[in-house]
Amino acid sequence: MNRCMVEQRIIVIGGGIGGLCAAIALRKAGCEVVLYERAGELRQVGAGLSLLPNAFRALETLGLAREVAAVGKPWRETRIHRSDGRVLGHLPVEPLCRTLGQSAVVMSRAELHEVLLRALGPDVPRLGARCTGFRVEGTGVVAEFEDGRRERGACLIGADGLNSIIRGQVVPGVTQRYSGHSSWRGMVEFESPVFPEGTLFEVLGRGARFVLCHIGPGASGAKRVYWALLANTPAGGRDPEGGRKASVLSRVGGWMAPIEAVVEATPEEAILRTDVSCIDPLDRWGEGPVTLLGDAAHAMVTDMAQGACQAIEDAVVLAQCVREADDLERALRAYEARRRPRTAELARLSWRSGSLRYVEGRVSTWLRDTLLRCVPSSLVEKQLRYVVGFPFLDAQAGPGSTPFRAESWLKR
Ligand SMILES: Cc1cc2nc3c(=O)[nH]c(=O)nc-3n(C[C@H](O)[C@H](O)[C@H](O)COP(=O)(O)OP(=O)(O)OC[C@H]3O[C@@H](n4cnc5c(N)ncnc54)[C@H](O)[C@@H]3O)c2cc1C
Repeated sequence: MNRCMVEQRIIVIGGGIGGLCAAIALRKAGCEVVLYERAGELRQVGAGLSLLPNAFRALETLGLAREVAAVGKPWRETRIHRSDGRVLGHLPVEPLCRTLGQSAVVMSRAELHEVLLRALGPDVPRLGARCTGFRVEGTGVVAEFEDGRRERGACLIGADGLNSIIRGQVVPGVTQRYSGHSSWRGMVEFESPVFPEGTLFEVLGRGARFVLCHIGPGASGAKRVYWALLANTPAGGRDPEGGRKASVLSRVGGWMAPIEAVVEATPEEAILRTDVSCIDPLDRWGEGPVTLLGDAAHAMVTDMAQGACQAIEDAVVLAQCVREADDLERALRAYEARRRPRTAELARLSWRSGSLRYVEGRVSTWLRDTLLRCVPSSLVEKQLRYVVGFPFLDAQAGPGSTPFRAESWLKR
């Protein structure tokens, strides 16, 4: 890497998974990094999260794969059921992980965050600092904060999530697209013989989908599960005070065991509700000394479980480009050129996959279920292999070089 780049300060806005990984990767590349987070405490809420082999390959380059895998439970297979329990499909995940030499793990978001924070060190994140925008000044950039603070750096990474303030300035006028469904997520100590560890259950109803799997044990050592209900509902809907659990139960009443029991066992305050939204793939992510990363750049719907995985890939590729280029702005453009095609492809694929899952009508759900029963698992594995493989490590990958076109694959 160019010597002067080591001496230049990089400002990261946002202390989510993307921002933390970017800061870790850039520090590892020899840069001075300051990270600003609006929250007063760096604590991730949001129950669980699955990370697939592509995320673990990226974490490996940060020296964190083992530590992250250790906080969760391996995801060995997915079983897809209809809400009444009828089997619709089965996807072995473990053989693919073995072939790729990486893990698939489901974990608590808070525990993942702790690992990332430990790796970054307590001196880097500056908390309680809400960024209001930036100004390009001379050869650098100045980040501005609500409390009047200003921070000058050589470049700025907007890792500030779906509602990114940095994206608003770099690419004005981007509108969010509501997926049509809201999510309710919970984490609870739970044990059941009908629900083995290592299996992720995906249960499909009419206009709704329930995901259930084990994560690592909590402080007490008891087994814990993570669950999520995603259900069609108008945007901006709210549950009445204390009504999140009732809202979930009203949608999954009569669904296969142990869904109702898991939800019943979850304390109301441990249930989180979030509308699922995304943005359409952007034509550009940055300009001059500024770029975007993670959800700020490519928020996608959750159906391929790739949002955080892609944010981690972004971080690793960004640091690689900074290490290789002799100029920071060139490094940012090279990073964008490598990341935009893959993330756009996965965003489209996630959207397509979601459109199939949440159908509501009697005929369309029957068609969905029939299709799921008939689709050969080799085809699903092929798609999964593309998603969770490591094309992001290919330095030649750029515009037009996407190795797998999901749309043409879907038409086959
Ligand atoms: C229901 C659901 C399930 C999901 N499951 C998975 C999964 O299994 N696997 C997976 O890979 N992905 C999953 N995702 C997606 C994943 O959660 C996101 O893609 C990921 O968290 C994005 O990380 P990020 O760091 O880019 O953004 P965020 O996590 O949104 O972090 C942004 C950070 O920036 C801070 N910030 C925002 N604005 C400012 C500001 N102005 N100034 C300073 N700080 C600011 C925020 O406080 C926040 O800490 C799921 C998403 C949902 C909704």
